[in-house]
Amino acid sequence: MFRFLISLLLLFPVLLFSQGEVFVLCYHTFLDKKKVDTDISPAEFERHINEIESIGYRFVSMEDIYLNRVYGKKNVLLTIDDGNHSVKNIYESVLIKKGIKPVLFISPAIIGKVKYALKTDDLKYYQECGATLGSHGYYHMYVNEKLYNDDRATFNREIYHSKKWLDQVSGRETRIYAYPFGVFSPVTKEHLIKAGFRASFSLRRGYMKVPIYMNDDLFDLPRWMVTKRSWPEIINKLKRDAGRFPENNMASQKIKNTLSADKDSKNRKQKIQK
Ligand SMILES: [Zn+2]
Repeated sequence: MFRFLISLLLLFPVLLFSQGEVFVLCYHTFLDKKKVDTDISPAEFERHINEIESIGYRFVSMEDIYLNRVYGKKNVLLTIDDGNHSVKNIYESVLIKKGIKPVLFISPAIIGKVKYALKTDDLKYYQECGATLGSHGYYHMYVNEKLYNDDRATFNREIYHSKKWLDQVSGRETRIYAYPFGVFSPVTKEHLIKAGFRASFSLRRGYMKVPIYMNDDLFDLPRWMVTKRSWPEIINKLKRDAGRFPENNMASQKIKNTLSADKDSKNRKQKIQK
């Protein structure tokens, strides 16, 4: 019994410091369209990134999260929905320059098919640069109980076919899904699990916990949708929370180790660019 208590005491700091949180942002397009609330101009986007960094948050990747390499509370994961071609307007100039590796949630039906979408080669290149590809439904539809009851084939295509398409393009297993419009039903979760997805994101506001299995519901992970109107509220929340999250040295040291482990992928990226 005594020995058990001692090991519990020794384990306590490890448990305490290894739990963390991630603030997940959801962007859409970077076209500089003044009247579209979900559109953030490239210049504005760069200001967002600089502001987030200036208050002490660090950008983490989905790969960091899968591998349990995220510690502390001042972490941001960037996600970009839909696969719009304007991702190109910020990818080299901001994301690659800063070493930020986002999640690209893709609706396969438009990829390489319409002018406003990215092409499969773009997706492969961004993946080589460290981006994670996730599904956003094959045709970007509401994947809820209504669709399940009204049109089972379409419901299945949104989930199963989108995964198959992404698995083939990426050469990897697609593990995450983002519900279009943040809409889903219990039956959606059942089929995501059956298809082999490990987690999915809605647009419920909150902090995602890490390690990822600490979240109450892996199929309703929170994200904050960034729009022209919502940004002041989001950055103010991050600023307020930054004051409440004094990071400890142990966490910072672990992050440093993670960053040096990432050097290899940076070298690979430079080769691709040449
Ligand atoms: Zn969408």
